[in-house]
Amino acid sequence: MSIKNFHRIFVSVVLLTALSLAALAQQPGSSTPSINRLQQIIAYLASDALEGRRTGTPGANDAAHYIAGEFSLLGLRPGMQMAGPARTRGEIRARYLQPFPYVASVELGKNNLITFDPERGPEDLTGFTVGKDWVPFGFSSNGGAQGAATVFAGYGISSAELKYDDYAVSNVKDRVAIVFEGTPDGDNPHGQFAQAGQIRFKAAAARAAGARALLIIASEDKLSDDRLSRLAYDNAGEAGIPIALISRQMASHVLGDLAGLEKIANGRASSHGLRTGRNLSVIVNVIRRESPSFNVVGILPGSDPKLRNETIVIGAHYDHLGMGGEGSGSLSARPGIHHGADDNASGVAGLLELARMLTLQNPKPRRTIVFIAFSGEEEGLIGSNYYVNHPIVPLANTVAMINMDMIGRMRKVELKADNVVAMQSALIIGGVGTAQEWKAIIDRNNSLTNGDPVYREFSGHAIPGSDKRFALTLNEDGYGPSDHSSFYARQVPVLFFWTGNHDDYHKPSDTADKINYEGEARVVSFAARIVSDIDRSDKRPTYTVAKSDSQGGRSMGFRVYLGTIPNYADSNDGLKLDGVRDDSPAAKAGLKAGDKIVKMAGREVKNVYDYTYALGEMKAGQEYEVEVMRGSERLTLKITPAVRK
Ligand SMILES: [Zn+2]
Repeated sequence: MSIKNFHRIFVSVVLLTALSLAALAQQPGSSTPSINRLQQIIAYLASDALEGRRTGTPGANDAAHYIAGEFSLLGLRPGMQMAGPARTRGEIRARYLQPFPYVASVELGKNNLITFDPERGPEDLTGFTVGKDWVPFGFSSNGGAQGAATVFAGYGISSAELKYDDYAVSNVKDRVAIVFEGTPDGDNPHGQFAQAGQIRFKAAAARAAGARALLIIASEDKLSDDRLSRLAYDNAGEAGIPIALISRQMASHVLGDLAGLEKIANGRASSHGLRTGRNLSVIVNVIRRESPSFNVVGILPGSDPKLRNETIVIGAHYDHLGMGGEGSGSLSARPGIHHGADDNASGVAGLLELARMLTLQNPKPRRTIVFIAFSGEEEGLIGSNYYVNHPIVPLANTVAMINMDMIGRMRKVELKADNVVAMQSALIIGGVGTAQEWKAIIDRNNSLTNGDPVYREFSGHAIPGSDKRFALTLNEDGYGPSDHSSFYARQVPVLFFWTGNHDDYHKPSDTADKINYEGEARVVSFAARIVSDIDRSDKRPTYTVAKSDSQGGRSMGFRVYLGTIPNYADSNDGLKLDGVRDDSPAAKAGLKAGDKIVKMAGREVKNVYDYTYALGEMKAGQEYEVEVMRGSERLTLKITPAVRK
């Protein structure tokens, strides 16, 4: 599950009320998930050997080859077409791998340079050393400014909502802006500046103010002690201007008395006036290296001559957080291997078991089943976004997408009636509003009959709900913090299985020994029933627009609502939209999935941070212009934000 999309996580949940539908004939019990297999698969994927499976690392690629090997053993058809016969085992496995572009590392180029203007700088000091006195940010644009004036601009925060603008008093247009790290609130993560004070937002604010480059003064005395000194890239697009962290010593050479400036910055922004420093030449040169990254795709061809053109995608992401860093919930500086047993070795084990079960099923599924282990999920659904842009079976023929993310921590809940208590397994299902048929399908497969082994646990109790397989929590929305979002954005009905959050989420302690294997087997067997039920009908599920989680984005502190579904992965020259919610301001403005927002409310938009920044400046009920690229066409539309409820 991706933390980047976590703000969209279920807020409103709806408990399934029993629909009084007659339980249809059960699928003949052809095969059941093997707890042994689930244990083996999770033990391997969550082992130290794979070092947390961070996208683009050898550990993730070992996982991909392992999954490809399993697909091959099951006799699934490889997803990729290649010229010539495969001869070696490696060549056979490679045919299951769908590569996608991904920057896994950043390094310094040869041409980094910050110097005083040679004519005007002090004679004893003309240049600063990259790596010691300063270091570029991984998302910095390459390029620079020659002999540019420097201007101190407080904390470099600009927020209409907070009525706070460091750039209102410090004119940085065509100059190099120099600002302090952090906020006037210190590092308070719940303070009013928590969002506006983030580096990405400072970058957007400096660019919007017309700065040629942004230098951020480290908060630690020693540059290498500063948490921002680590060169890293979040695959969320370039800043648009050169950006670097500079040491406090370097800053005082350029600006003079830092302690005095800090005092000024900690007062209200409007009081600090214009402070200029010595002229600088700045050149930033970072190299962002792409690493091979793959989705793993295996196909079980359908048995029905007509329906085999339709496909059901079953997915689970196999990547995780590696050794920590971006996205980690660990507070430790060196947290170690993030094992990701629940997130999401559990889903991959479910995927492989479903592949085995559906391959053995007799009669065979009528529709083609496409099994996909995604990568890049934790970095913002990169792999699944790539897949929907480069589908192996056309999306128009993709009748449903079933996603499993974190299905290994099933809990039990109490069912009570009078003096009787029964414990029942709890399961969360997302996307139930994305097809007309979903609730009925879920309900009839959740009903227990006398023959079910689970039924015996509850037999004799007249407790409401005890004739159900699970205590279900249903969420209507097709968007959520995992790969099904990418499919729903393309109008594919989705279902998302999840056993819920826990204290080990995104920490090294998400280990294989904490998995509830018996509970996971129940989820997998339920998913198999649902897939078979979908496949039994001649009619494909009817796509419907789901009620949205109206609070999505509230955690970001926005006051306004547009109803856009930003693509978090692909943005350097605009913000691409995965979709637009029905009847939203965005829909009324005429925005569409695939549009790239390049300007909004007078702000240039190059990436999701610029977009968020512009959004923070907008007021409900006021009309703004939004410029989008649709194909090669540039359109100007009018959008009126609504009040966020
Ligand atoms: Zn996750």
